[in-house]
Amino acid sequence: MKQRMGSPLIREWTGIQQFPAATQTKLLELLGKLKQENVSTLTVLVMGKGGVGKSSIVNSIIGERAVAVSAFQSEAPRPMMVSRSRAGFTLNIIDTPGLVEGGYVNDQALEIIKRFLLNRTIDVLLYVDRLDAYRVDNLDRQVVKAITDSFGKEIWRRGLVVLTHAQFSPPDGLSYDDFFSRRSEALLKVVRLGARIKKQDIQGSSIPVVLVENSGRCNKNESDEKILPNGTVWIPNLVEIITDVVSNGSKGILVDKKLIEGPNPNERGKLLIPFILAFQYFFIVKRIQRWIKDDIAKEGLPVWEQRYKSYSNRRF
Ligand code: GDP
Ligand code: MG
Repeated sequence: MKQRMGSPLIREWTGIQQFPAATQTKLLELLGKLKQENVSTLTVLVMGKGGVGKSSIVNSIIGERAVAVSAFQSEAPRPMMVSRSRAGFTLNIIDTPGLVEGGYVNDQALEIIKRFLLNRTIDVLLYVDRLDAYRVDNLDRQVVKAITDSFGKEIWRRGLVVLTHAQFSPPDGLSYDDFFSRRSEALLKVVRLGARIKKQDIQGSSIPVVLVENSGRCNKNESDEKILPNGTVWIPNLVEIITDVVSNGSKGILVDKKLIEGPNPNERGKLLIPFILAFQYFFIVKRIQRWIKDDIAKEGLPVWEQRYKSYSNRRF
């Protein structure tokens, strides 16, 4: 089925019927729980680098091929919102293009995403990466920082780290759970750095890490539900953790004009003044003081030695 671009019509969530009965029951239970808490709409923003499985997750949750998935870098250059409603509940999932291009964060892609989100509230952020990767680097940190700079660090109170390709065998000597916890720890560390989450805040705002296997070859249990190597039925598990995050007492992020445009540049300039003064003090005043001290120390030395000292000391 083709999705009409920009269609305002909210379709019935028929994909839910594609799931095995046990999964359907669990999902409807979770939606019922949300409705009890007066949550009748959820808007989920999916972000991350390219090719990590963002679009696949959207399709997995919705239960149909709503957005294009590609093994190669031919992603839709713009965000896509998929909306489905079921028994008075509406789920909006926003798929976005990858945030990295040529080894850098693509600021233009971010700008487009921000504008697309204008006047919407982000209830949940899915920050997607792969489980089967071994390295977390500065680029990951830059991606997290870019998201934080765009929406504020509060977005991480509504954030989940989602790891795809979870049907995976770790290399020799590592158990699945060990690998998972090491990968999670490494990623969470980078998320905390990029999101400027302070040490004392960690306890109050632990970010869940959730496993996902989008492949059609995902293993199933006796009820035909997709399961991970550790036995977790991952679709209802993901939706359950999403509902937990929504109920954690934090607020959704309203993307208004002020958030998009950031602080007034003049105001930002004023904020810098104390830093500039501090910089001048430490690097200029201190340096002059050191020269004076050196000069005092040199007094009394023979002239040739003074010259030698002045060369060896004045290297910065
Ligand atoms: P995006 O660029 O982040 O939107 O990634 P896509 O959803 O387009 O996926 C990129 C490629 O990875 C496609 O070939 C997908 O079929 C594949 N893929 C995505 N998620 C998974 C997963 O969990 N397991 C496996 N085996 N392949 C996946
Ligand atoms: Mg995609």
